[in-house]
Amino acid sequence: AAADLECDLLVLGGGPGGYSAAFRAADLGLRVVIVERYATLGGVCLNVGCIPSKALLHVASVIDEARHLARAGVDFGAPKIDLAALRGHKEKIIGKLTGGLAAMAKMRKVTTVRGYGAFVDAHHVEVEETTGAGQQRTGNKKRIAFKKAIIAAGSQALRLPFMPEDPRVLDSSGALELTTLPKRMLILGGGIIGLEMGTVYSTLGARLDVVEMQDGLMPGADRDLVKIWQKMNAGRFDRIMLQTKTVGARATPEGIEVTFAAAQEGGSAPEAQLYDLVLQAVGRAPNGRKIAAEKAGVTVTQRGFIEVDVQMRSNVAHIFAIGDVVGQPMLAHKAVHEAHVAAQVIAGELQGDKALASTAFDARVIPSVAYTDPEVAWVGLTEDQARAQGIKVRKGLFPWTASGRAIANGRDEGCTKLLFDDAPQAHGHGRILGGGIVGTHAGDMIGEIALAIEMGADALDIGKTIHPHPTLGESIGMAAEIAHGSCTDVP
Ligand code: FAD
Repeated sequence: AAADLECDLLVLGGGPGGYSAAFRAADLGLRVVIVERYATLGGVCLNVGCIPSKALLHVASVIDEARHLARAGVDFGAPKIDLAALRGHKEKIIGKLTGGLAAMAKMRKVTTVRGYGAFVDAHHVEVEETTGAGQQRTGNKKRIAFKKAIIAAGSQALRLPFMPEDPRVLDSSGALELTTLPKRMLILGGGIIGLEMGTVYSTLGARLDVVEMQDGLMPGADRDLVKIWQKMNAGRFDRIMLQTKTVGARATPEGIEVTFAAAQEGGSAPEAQLYDLVLQAVGRAPNGRKIAAEKAGVTVTQRGFIEVDVQMRSNVAHIFAIGDVVGQPMLAHKAVHEAHVAAQVIAGELQGDKALASTAFDARVIPSVAYTDPEVAWVGLTEDQARAQGIKVRKGLFPWTASGRAIANGRDEGCTKLLFDDAPQAHGHGRILGGGIVGTHAGDMIGEIALAIEMGADALDIGKTIHPHPTLGESIGMAAEIAHGSCTDVP
């Protein structure tokens, strides 16, 4: 059949990966079409992820800060919470950003086709039009021909198979809707997403239980940092159930009854509990198996990931993939960087520009942030990972009890930790391998450590860089000085 539309580059999915790739490719002169099933661009990140969660976390952190201030003699009293207005506030923020994206697409003459896209062959997709706020299909179909394609279909929340269909069982998107304030809430999965949403609900009044299969919360983060986070957050939780599996759930009029089992043989399991609300935050599954990729010859793994090379190219030379659908970490900033690589390679190949065509993804590290209270941010190797890899490290640990600014803020529980290569051949000048921060604004500061890793900085480079006083960022310089052994100011 003849195509209804032709383009140089078809981008399947309009999330941070998809729109970033489309915009970069359009800026480089290509005719670009984005296919997106939802009414707005922005994907999970803008609509039901990064941005709405941070809008709510900001509100929670202001409430928490106000509570801290009572100790400084300023008491605002209990907050009055109008849930509908709070939802409206969040929606307005999303609208501002997705509206901005639509304008940027228009400015660049990027065509957006609304509908559910699936490959027909290696040079065509068929898009079934969708309508409304969700993804109801109308049956109208369009065929789009492309020279090159980028798959940016993202991911969606995993559900445990035995969880009942019940309005009291939510995934992260449902939790962001904030329709009720539960008294007792179970966070299923102690990763970033679960703990962020738990922070919002507990600040608004819920008591939390959290259940996690692994032996610690925030798997992947440095244990020294998590220990501090857990101590500061002890008051939010009734139970932190580690090395525990959720094995069953039943909807009753009184609540959702959840049963647990020890994750390891011989371990003990807590008794069944009743909850007003259960948040499933047990991970996300890539959408790779839902786009008929096999019709284009693109290999998709059993779990739904698409394997790519450093240019973000799939096994089919003119079809690329980026973002959550290509693997961990499933983070927006990773998707955006991959998007720029794919767009540049494609533009270079279509236009015979060798320099662009040789672009590759070679980020050394990708930072992670839990925007909880306090925040936890980390990048590069953790101490446990270094040990597991047999790498000898020199560490610098700066406790914020020695930071003037943290003390002035009344928030000196934080800690900044840096790890440097201590191999004998480094002669005490080993490069930075990783770092992490727990404390207020940790996420805003982790970029400096990522930059130091990318630049191959050593402890002297960071320690002798003058950081402004009094800032929390000084803690990075101080941690480096401690690692170098040249610090005299800290107890
Ligand atoms: P997505 O954002 O998933 O976009 C994919 C798009 O493709 C979607 O819009 C989807 O509708 C569309 N699509 C899929 N299949 C089709 C099809 N067949 N036809 C048409 N359209 C299709 N990351 C961070 O970096 N920082 C954070 O603070 C953060 N917070 C988060 C909080 C929550 C609650 C969640 C759930 C995620 C969070 N993330 C965060 C992760 C982040 O949202 C994702 O990593 C990011 O959105 C991935 O971008 P993407 O472009 O790969 O995919």
